[in-house]
Amino acid sequence: MSSLHQGPPETETGGRLTIDLSAIAANYKLLASRAAPAECAAVVKADAYGLGVPSVAQALWTAGARTFFVAHVFEARALRAALPEAIIYVLSGLNPGSASILLEINARPVLGSPGEVEEWVAKGGGASAALHIDTGMNRLGLSLSEAEETAQKNAFRPSLVMSHLACADVPNHPLNKEQLTAFEAVRQLFPDTPASLANSAATLSGGAYRFDLCRPGIALYGGNPFHPHPAPDLKPVVKLQTRIVQLREAGRGEKVGYGGEETLGRPSRLAILSLGYADGFIRAAGSRDAQKGAEVIIAGKSCPLVGRISMDLIAADITDLPENAVKRGDYATVLGDGITIDELAQKAGTIGYEILTRLGPRFERIYAG
Ligand SMILES: *Cc1c(COP(=O)(O)O)cnc(C)c1O
Repeated sequence: MSSLHQGPPETETGGRLTIDLSAIAANYKLLASRAAPAECAAVVKADAYGLGVPSVAQALWTAGARTFFVAHVFEARALRAALPEAIIYVLSGLNPGSASILLEINARPVLGSPGEVEEWVAKGGGASAALHIDTGMNRLGLSLSEAEETAQKNAFRPSLVMSHLACADVPNHPLNKEQLTAFEAVRQLFPDTPASLANSAATLSGGAYRFDLCRPGIALYGGNPFHPHPAPDLKPVVKLQTRIVQLREAGRGEKVGYGGEETLGRPSRLAILSLGYADGFIRAAGSRDAQKGAEVIIAGKSCPLVGRISMDLIAADITDLPENAVKRGDYATVLGDGITIDELAQKAGTIGYEILTRLGPRFERIYAG
């Protein structure tokens, strides 16, 4: 197995993040099989959900992805450098004045208002652009009546007509069916244009949601797109390990960390870990007397965090480990080895998407597979 190292070297930093590119490829192939006969695109916005274009994009291309979605023009530029032949859509729409840049890097805007369509046409943008229709989320996109007007004017034929589901993570939410019905009507307005509605959850749900092109993101990276369960057969992609910088003992009744919010109930041994909120480890996953926090794996055993999460440090309770099980410099596993991004997210009161996209630049990054 080949591997590529990026970021600060291990001896100079506190953590290492291993990204399993073969797991990403396997997840893509699973999604592509669910998407079929529709094409399966890949959403790589926010630097591939924090995991790093270009390595991730190249793995997806090798696995068969040909159409990619990013959020911003600068992301499209970075992706274009990695994938000279890919079709690239920019989800955030047309920034005023950005049409010429998009044309120059051969990226396609996802146009979301009549004003954006007008500007794109005026700049000679042509048919390489998607049209985003809002079918009930009230975020981006033309209203249904604006879509009708655009279709009637016939001055612009998009390369893709798309919409986005608000509640795909809850498959039997009534809004899904409403949005599907609305999108089927929109599609009639652009009968010769490929259509796209599905994110990860809707791709895995399959059926009528697939249309011509699916757009999964989180599931590629091993996140469970369904709330709260069940998890589909996706492979975990990230492993996050953090260094034990110090071992210490503390007595029963002593406090741990800022604010003294956790009191030790017994004589304890603590491992101080080189991980904090400045690394993107969500502060809400910390522990206090009133509410226990996340857990990490040390020497093969699950150990609870103790006290608040600092900017760069956090404590774990290793009292239940054998006496000499760990030493300074060993690693604790924060994600991976059975700890999923979704479990950590639940402890932190958030979603797997936020856990991934916050993983910061301070880790040594290892691209494996
Ligand atoms: C982010 C995004 C996706 C991917 O969603 P996942 O839930 O990560 O699969 C698809 N379409 C649009 C418009 C998006 O913004």
